[in-house]
Amino acid sequence: MNLCLVCGESFWQPYSWKSLFGLSEHKGLCLNCSEKLVRLGERGCLRCHRSLEGDQVVRAREGVCYDCIRWEKRLGEDVLKANYSLFAYQSLVKEMITSYKFSGDAKMSVFFSKELETVYHRWFDACLVVPIPLSPSRLAERGFNQAELLLEGWAVDPKLLYREEREKQSKKGRKERISHVNHPPFYCAPAEISQLTLQDVLLVDDIYTTGTTVRQAATVLKNSGARSVSSLTIARS
Ligand SMILES: [Zn+2]
Ligand SMILES: [Zn+2]
Repeated sequence: MNLCLVCGESFWQPYSWKSLFGLSEHKGLCLNCSEKLVRLGERGCLRCHRSLEGDQVVRAREGVCYDCIRWEKRLGEDVLKANYSLFAYQSLVKEMITSYKFSGDAKMSVFFSKELETVYHRWFDACLVVPIPLSPSRLAERGFNQAELLLEGWAVDPKLLYREEREKQSKKGRKERISHVNHPPFYCAPAEISQLTLQDVLLVDDIYTTGTTVRQAATVLKNSGARSVSSLTIARS
């Protein structure tokens, strides 16, 4: 008997054709809650993992969504090799992220870290894993970095990427946020930079929204010697 992480109901983890074929119900969640999660799976934009539906299909080029085409135009060449997100950013995932990010719910962060670990071994095995850092004041306020929590059990923060104090991104409009990709708030610790030489890097964060944050970090990491930078997040909005 297990207790569901979301609704607290007890449930049996049944053996079913789904679990036999590795398409398991989400471990730790009852069937009812696990069915409410929208897993992004293997399909979607080849670059950012956005689902390609409706308008996006019409405008997509060679499997890359319109958002990514815009990034290419803006940056010349996209600094982000690929993004993989576990779930669509919908109501249940929002609730789950809030509970680990703001209340530090340890069971919830373990649930996410195990899910991310599976994807890491499958697609990003050779990468150096770097969590998106918080600014010093945000870290002091929250007491922990939620992105670093997601590495629990499968990677250790190499402590090479840091974030300066800046005004909060969500207070700015989309245009202004995107323009800030040229002025990243991140920097690398000089003593750790040698780790990046010809290294493929995997950034880990909770949510991919416009893709600005991971591209800002990717710009800094590539300027410091990284060969490629990809990202892995819990959710994709
Ligand atoms: Zn439940
Ligand atoms: Zn895309």
